[in-house]
Amino acid sequence: MPDAFDLPPLPYDAGPLAPTIDTATLAVHHDGHHRAYVDALNAALAPYPELHGRSIEALLSGLDALPAGIQQVVRQAGGGHANHQLFWKGIRTGGRLSPTGDLAAMIERDFGSAGGFAEAFVEAGLARFGSGWAFLVTDPHGQALEIVALPDEGSVLLPPGGRPALLAADLWEHAYYPSFRQDRATWLRGWLGLVNWDYAEERLQAIRAGETDRLGGPAI
Ligand code: MN
Repeated sequence: MPDAFDLPPLPYDAGPLAPTIDTATLAVHHDGHHRAYVDALNAALAPYPELHGRSIEALLSGLDALPAGIQQVVRQAGGGHANHQLFWKGIRTGGRLSPTGDLAAMIERDFGSAGGFAEAFVEAGLARFGSGWAFLVTDPHGQALEIVALPDEGSVLLPPGGRPALLAADLWEHAYYPSFRQDRATWLRGWLGLVNWDYAEERLQAIRAGETDRLGGPAI
């Protein structure tokens, strides 16, 4: 039986992401860390063909209904897969440098300005002790924004109260240590400069249009 999930190739080369993400860090992060999550998730799902074909968003937002024996692996490795998918798609090697459209208006309303958002995002990332993720999340109707930082491979999709994320920044040292050592703030400011605002806006519009997979939002 084929695996439930594949590791999608990266949509870009490392070159244009430097110096925030260098070639070696990108390769280890994607082909090492992310692949390990996909492999662990596939191993856990192998005995459950009835779950194959279900999206990662559906598995996480419906975690409570999964067989008890695989809930922890789906929470951890599935959370890791979803978080990294969003991370890779949420950065770009060209395109707009700042939000526009509805998302720009919401950022201004909810954080005062794009600069206010950046400041709040870095602050939330620094306040998360240890490994984790910082997310820009919205509600299931795409009407309000919030910054949420979770430990480990925590997912904003998990019940109860799961919500879709528009963007995700990796706070694990494997994401930034080779370039920035312990300096998470500089990493996060660099990440903000790579954000694919077109992708975040597309996700917001898809959520508003109801193109959702339960609470999971549109396919990452
Ligand atoms: Mn990572």
